[in-house]
Order: sequence, then structure tokens, then C-alpha cells
Amino acid sequence: MFQSQVVVLIAGLFALQMAIVCAVLRRSAGMGRSGLTSWALGDLIVTLAVVLLAAHAYRPEWPLAALPELLLTAGLSMMVHGTRHFAGKRGRGVVLGLLNLPGLAALAVHAVSELAGTAVEPVPIPIVTWLTFAASVIQVLLLLEVIRVSLSLVPLNRGTGRLAALSLAIVALGCTVLAGAQAWPLLALVDGHALVVPDQHESMTVWFVFGVMGLSVSFALMAHDRLRRIIERRARHDDLTDVLSRGAFWEELEIACQQAERHHKPFTVSFIDLDHFKAINDLYGHLAGDSVLRHFAGLLRKAAPGGAVIGRLGGEEFAIVMPEMNLETGRAVSLRLSAMVRATPCPSEPDSIAYTVSIGMAERLAGENADAVMRRADRALYDAKQMGRNCVSSHDTAESVGMPRRPRVRERESS
Ligand code: GH3
Ligand code: MG
Ligand code: MG
Repeated sequence: MFQSQVVVLIAGLFALQMAIVCAVLRRSAGMGRSGLTSWALGDLIVTLAVVLLAAHAYRPEWPLAALPELLLTAGLSMMVHGTRHFAGKRGRGVVLGLLNLPGLAALAVHAVSELAGTAVEPVPIPIVTWLTFAASVIQVLLLLEVIRVSLSLVPLNRGTGRLAALSLAIVALGCTVLAGAQAWPLLALVDGHALVVPDQHESMTVWFVFGVMGLSVSFALMAHDRLRRIIERRARHDDLTDVLSRGAFWEELEIACQQAERHHKPFTVSFIDLDHFKAINDLYGHLAGDSVLRHFAGLLRKAAPGGAVIGRLGGEEFAIVMPEMNLETGRAVSLRLSAMVRATPCPSEPDSIAYTVSIGMAERLAGENADAVMRRADRALYDAKQMGRNCVSSHDTAESVGMPRRPRVRERESS
């Protein structure tokens, strides 16, 4: 008896730790709606269930039977709620609440009548047996939902995230078997009008608790993977425009150079600068200037060919790497972008803001590194500015194409 109580309490400690892990992960920025609060509460409820299981073993005369099973069902319901939220689905809190309330209410009535000594005798089938049986059946249904939702997450994730989603489904399958195994003999007991829940049921419950802890570990791994991806994404992307930040763009450019060298394939870089952006800030304010930057990034994403790498190099300067494109095809993309910018002013109140861009281009030459190709694109951009802005220029020809047009914002002398 002593040994089994120790095992039960170890399970409780484990559940408490998982509640803390979920609460800590929940505090990280960007993890607010990942279902971690529900999982933390679910783990706390499981901790309580385990404490009551130990208390029941210590004092079998207390009217606690079936309460651990009902609490385990409540804990699992919270976990289903959290898993659904993690997958971006609605939690279905009302349905899950309705699954739990009748059992807990019935047990409360039973406990009160036991304590008051008003239980009706003889009881043909103890209410505790019924409740334990119903709890196990509901647990099977809840676990099937965990399996369904976690399997839907498998194809949406990569690497450790996919592995964690898969392990959640597999552990949930194991728990389903355990919950089913708990319900099965009880069904026979209900049929046979037996009066007690068999002894082995309690050790099965302990196994089940460890299974539920396995679920928590898998979910915590899934949440941790999501947090890691959020942090990585924030480190590599520009907050304002959501394109790559300067450092990440440069890394991708260097990789593109290595691949182009290895496979003897061309690529073209466009270096883009918004014209008279300082005047836009001065005239409309910095917040409107930020909207223009976001608007331009949106157009850039639309105009970019598949596989292109887009980055914000700083201020109002952007760049785009177009793999496997020579200067001619790259120029067609740049001209299309330039025309899109002219035709699509940034929506703003009271008037939309018209703006233009200057684009300098260079096709990578054999043996050139990232610095060299960007320096040539920068020189072409300088030429485009010299030629009156709102045009596309390429380094090797230094010719300008496109229709220069005076933007709506008045040109100012730069200080
Ligand atoms: P040019 O046509 O020669 O490129 O002129 P310009 O005014 O666009 O260039 P300049 O370098 O003189 O000004 C760039 C301005 O961009 C100055 C700076 O205040 C503004 N800027 C840089 N970063 C941001 C930003 O994140 N948001 C806003 N709103 N403005 C920014
Ligand atoms: Mg500019
Ligand atoms: Mg600039």
C-alpha cells in the first residue's frame, strides 16, 4: 500500500511540474492563444485527482471513490480545450463543461447523502461504479478528440513540431486503450450487479495518470517548438514590413551566391529605394510614412517571383534576390513593380499617398560574392536617382527604363 501511494504521489508531483512548465511557456510573448492556460489548469486538476487518489488509498472510508476519475475527466477536458485552441479551433468549452458537470454534481449529492447518513439501502448498483464507468467512457471520447486534433497538426509542422504532434497522437492512443481497459470490466460489473469497483482499477488509474502526463510532455514540446519558431521569425524579420531584416537578407544572399556558383546559374538583384521618402514623412507624418513602407512591402511581395528573397536593408531601402533569373527577366519584374507602385497609391486619410521608387539592378557575374553584386546594384540605384528617380537602371548598361514621373510630394532639397 505504502509503495503504491508513493507512486501515486510521484505522478502528482510530475503533474504539478507540467502545470508550471505550461504556465512558464504561457508567459512568453506570442504564446497567449496557444491553449497553454487550459493545459496548465488541466495539469493542476490532474494533480488534485492524484492527491485524492492517495487520500482514498489512505482512508478508504472517506466518500472519495470516483472523484479522482471524475477529476481526471475534467483535467482531460481542459487539455482538449487547450489542444483545440493550439490548433486555432474554437475551444468548445460549453460542450466540455456539460460532459463534466452531471458526474461531479451526482458525486457531490452522493457524498453529502453519505456524510449525512441518508443513503438509500440497498443500492443495486453503486453510483460510484456508474460514475467511474461513465468517466472512463468520456475519457475515451476526449482522447479520441486529442488524437484527431493532433493528427491534423502533423502535416502543418516541420521537424520537432511535427514529431511532438505525432507523439501527442500516439500517447493519446495509449491513454485511450488504458481508459477503454478501465471501462470494459466495469461494464461487466454493471451487468452483473456487482457492488464494488475492483482493486486493479486503482493501479490502472495510476498508469492512466502517467499516460496523461505523457500527453502534457508532448504538448509542452509542441508549444516549445512554436515558441522557438516565433523567436526565430522575429529575429530574422523586420517588425514593420515583415520582410527579412538586413542580417537575414545578407545571409540568404550569400547562400544564393554559393548556389549560383556551384550550379552555374544566374541570379539578379534589385536594390530599391523609395523616392523623396523624407518629404513623405515631413508632409504626412512618420506614422503615415510607416504605412507607406508597409504598403510597399506588400506590393513587393506581390510582384516578386516564386523563390525570391525579399529584405529591408534599412530605412526606405529594400532589396530582392531573384534566383535563376538573368538581367532581362529580372528587369521585367522590376518594371512591373515600378508600374504597380505608380498605379497603387498607399491608402490613407484624407487622401491616399502617391509615391514612386528607384530601382538599381545587377546580375551576378561568375565568381562574384554578395558584397560585389550588391555594390554594383547600389551603383545602378545611384544612376537611377541621378536620372531623375522613378525608373529602373542596371549596372552593366547604366541605361534607364520606365516612365519618370514627378511624384505628388514636392521635392525638397536634402539637408
Ligand atoms: P531620395 O529620393 O534621394 O532617396 O530621398 P529620400 O528622402 O527618400 O532619402 P533620405 O535618405 O533623405 O531620407 C530617408 C528618410 O527615411 C529619412 C528617415 O527619417 C526616413 N526613415 C527611415 N526609416 C524610417 C522608418 O522606419 N519609418 C519612417 N516613417 N521613416 C523612416
Ligand atoms: Mg529614398
Ligand atoms: Mg535611402
